[in-house]
This record gives sequence, structure tokens and C-alpha cells, in this order.
Amino acid sequence: MPSRTLSSVLPLRPRKGNDMVEEPEFHVATVHSKRHISPSMIRVVLGGDGLRSFASCGGLDEFAWLSFPQGDAPLADAPGRYYTVRHWDGAAGRMTVDFVSHEGGIASTWARLAEPGDRLGVLKPRFRYVPPADSCWVVLLADATGLPAVGRIIEERPSAVPVIAHVEINSIEDRQDFSADGYHCHWHPSFNHDGRASRLSEIAVELELPQGPGYVWVAGEASEVAACRRHFRDTLGLPRERLTSIGYWIHGQARS
Ligand SMILES: Cc1cc2nc3c(=O)[nH]c(=O)nc-3n(C[C@H](O)[C@H](O)[C@H](O)COP(=O)(O)OP(=O)(O)OC[C@H]3O[C@@H](n4cnc5c(N)ncnc54)[C@H](O)[C@@H]3O)c2cc1C
Repeated sequence: MPSRTLSSVLPLRPRKGNDMVEEPEFHVATVHSKRHISPSMIRVVLGGDGLRSFASCGGLDEFAWLSFPQGDAPLADAPGRYYTVRHWDGAAGRMTVDFVSHEGGIASTWARLAEPGDRLGVLKPRFRYVPPADSCWVVLLADATGLPAVGRIIEERPSAVPVIAHVEINSIEDRQDFSADGYHCHWHPSFNHDGRASRLSEIAVELELPQGPGYVWVAGEASEVAACRRHFRDTLGLPRERLTSIGYWIHGQARS
């Protein structure tokens, strides 16, 4: 059986063509600081002269391909993974990235071992969060890997449209507070529990969408996200433009 991939959702790495980045901007960043913000989440703040020219695309679920040093390979060619830009401080040239700490994987291992001064590659960012202008509510549904985007969307959204978030986390200690009003976050401590990676699709089936036109954004484990997409689109009949669903990782399979 062929292995599942996320290629229908996102390419493994930005490349030339159609909706892809034409000429990827590459920045060498260095670790400014690192700390655990909860038992399962490592916050790394990146800086350095190479990052000063980073141009944020301004999307609220903004993400970039990060490349991690491996042997003598040039950083631009090193293996990488997509990560959310949790916060970009253009004045200081600092980028905050939150890594879910998990067993194995070049990205998680790098974050666990990262120390100030360590280097990292950052490619040009993109985004997928595009709520229609007439949305009078937004529902965010994500596992822990989507939590950085959920936090940024809640804190940096420009309008007063109410946001209801459902986030699957490892344990209740992984909850986060956001500096914002007009949102409600439901925490589901079922991520990576009892041999099952995620129960996002069960959460999707149980939640009730508000009345009126709105927008649903879903991110997490690929097969769970696919099941959520089927539920919202096929069962509930949510129009295409009112649903964004992105597979962020694949259970049991490295990202590249
Ligand atoms: C647009 C986008 C934005 C993303 N933003 C973030 C973000 O801000 N923070 C974040 O933590 N992740 C984020 N991710 C997910 C992250 O890219 C993947 O989890 C990635 O696979 C991690 O790479 P790795 O090298 O650590 O593990 P890989 O080498 O890809 O995988 C190794 C093993 O670990 C498993 N695995 C991968 N991720 C997890 C996990 N989170 N929990 C448990 N097992 C896992 C795999 O199934 C595999 O068995 C994002 C993904 C996308 C597409």
C-alpha cells in the first residue's frame, strides 16, 4: 500500500510553480532563547542578522519551512518541516515558534536540544486562514500542532468576530492563555492518548456550529483532518469557502 502523504494539502517543501513560492527567500536565523511554556510545548525565539530581512506575509496562520542543520549540508539544502510563525516582531527582528515536543523527528529533536546561538533556516512564509468578509463567527479546531496558529489567530485577528476554539492537547497542563477578548477556548486532553494520535474528528462531530454565516479552520493529524473535512463539507454542507482544513502531520510517518 502506498504511504499516505500530505502532498494534496501542502507540498513537502516550497518549490517553483503555480501557487508555490517562485524564488524562495532564505534566511539564516539563530536561537535567541528557548523555554518550555507547558509540559509539551517548547517556545523558541529566533533572531540574528539573517532574519532581519524576513518579510511576514501577515496571514494569521502564517507558516514557514524551517530547515535544520544536518552534518555538513548547507542549511539551505538541509531537511526541514513547516512550522507556524507564532509571533513576528518586525522591529526587533525576532520570530517566535512553538514546537510540540514528541519522540523522534528532526524538528522536535532539534527543539529539545536547541541552545542560544544554534542556527536554523527559514524560507518565505505563506498562510491559509481566509475567513469570508461576512463571517459572523469563527470556529477553530486543532490538535496541539495547530495551537500556535490558534493562539495567533485569537490574539491578532483584526475584527471583533467571536471565536470558538477547540484544541486537543496532551494534558490539561498544556492549556494556554491568550491576550484577547471575544473568544472561548475548549481544551480536550486527548492528544496522543491510549495509542491513538488524535480524536479531532470526534470533537468535530460533537460540536455545534453557531447560526449564520461563519468560517471553520481545522489543522492537525492528516487523517483526522480529512475526517473533519468530510463531516463539515459532506454531512453539514459547509460551502468550500467557509472551510479551511490542513493536515499538519501524519501519524506514524515522518514528514519527508
Ligand atoms: C502549515 C503547518 C504548520 C505547522 N505548525 C506547527 C507548529 O507551529 N508547531 C508544531 O509543533 N508543529 C507544527 N506543524 C506540524 C509539524 O510540521 C509536524 O509535526 C512535523 O512532522 C514535525 O516534524 P518532526 O521532524 O519533529 O517529526 P517527523 O520526522 O515528521 O515525524 C517523526 C515521527 O513523529 C510523529 N510526529 C510528528 N509530529 C508529531 C506530533 N506533533 N506529535 C506526535 N507525533 C508526531 C510522526 O508521525 C512520525 O512517526 C505544522 C505543520 C504544517 C503543515
